[in-house]
Amino acid sequence: MFDFLKKAFKKFTEQLSGEKEEKEEKVEKKPEIAEEFKKEKVETEEKKKKEEKKEGLLEKAAKLITETKLSEEQFNKFFSVLEIELIQNNVAFPIIRELRENLERDLLGKSLPKAKLEEKIREILKQTVFDILSKPKQVDLVDLAKKKKESGSALVLLILGVNGHGKTLTIAKLANLFIKSNLRPVLAAADTFRAAAIEQLAEHANRLNVRLIAHKYGADPAAVAFDAIKAKEKDVVLIDTAGRQTLDANLMAELAKVKKVAKPDLTILVGEAIAGSDLVAQAKLFNEKIGIDGIILTKVDVDDKGGALLSVVQATGKPILFLGNGQGYSDLIPFDAEEITNKIFGNSS
Ligand code: GDP
Repeated sequence: MFDFLKKAFKKFTEQLSGEKEEKEEKVEKKPEIAEEFKKEKVETEEKKKKEEKKEGLLEKAAKLITETKLSEEQFNKFFSVLEIELIQNNVAFPIIRELRENLERDLLGKSLPKAKLEEKIREILKQTVFDILSKPKQVDLVDLAKKKKESGSALVLLILGVNGHGKTLTIAKLANLFIKSNLRPVLAAADTFRAAAIEQLAEHANRLNVRLIAHKYGADPAAVAFDAIKAKEKDVVLIDTAGRQTLDANLMAELAKVKKVAKPDLTILVGEAIAGSDLVAQAKLFNEKIGIDGIILTKVDVDDKGGALLSVVQATGKPILFLGNGQGYSDLIPFDAEEITNKIFGNSS
């Protein structure tokens, strides 16, 4: 899932700590200089002083073997390589800057035990990634729906996203998730624009045996959403919306109207991980124009880069709620920042 990102961080960590080892081999020769003092017999005051000096040198040399200080030059050399790899893997600049600042703060000019250097670099990278991913507050949709049910109302979810990113299938996956938790979803076909959008959603509703509220093509999407909210015997309303490739003012006005009428508990953006920096730009725009509360990142099974995940969270400040990792109804993984960070860096740090 995050193969490239994983490799880039690993290579950087190993190279930066490996570079120090090379330098230290040269340092290790220092005891030989000090060793020469050993040959002299110590009797006079002067010789005694030399002996003391010898001990000081030995101590210093030993310390240099076990402790290390990274120079800015060494750091820059390897960070510039990492930086290019991160950009190629859809990691946005503010994240790269954060990684750099954290590494510089904890490594540059500081004496560190040589044996711990690799671990330290990995720890800083891992913590930075975890902090970015875990910053936005998570929302448990099933839990929220159960709470709303207890209070006698339904959870209303407005689903947005560009066509082809997996919005319809994700709605079906969410419906399946709610059904498994004994909650009754209703689907609202509020994309009345795209040819076959209603049929596509109807097919999922049929397969999952859930109700679908639909009007004719060209009908007012807000009216469809309104009817779904009025429907009886439901615990969750999932509103599908139009998502043309060109995110123009007309589309945004239409979506804003649906939101105004539906008054959703949450507005969720569905975006495909493989869109990379395009997804980040789209997410920012949806957030600015409509307002989003969370993101479902699809197609992570076919994205081996992984950077979009970090970038979209950083750019919107919104949590990733689920990852879509396949075309089956159960291919929806609840997002867990710790689990993802461990997948990129490994468990122990
Ligand atoms: P929409 O236009 O945004 O409603 O997108 P669809 O739900 O129709 O999905 C577009 C295509 O992406 C379909 O072929 C889906 O099967 C596929 N798709 C959606 N989510 C995923 C996913 O998580 N992984 C993979 N591999 N394909 C997905």
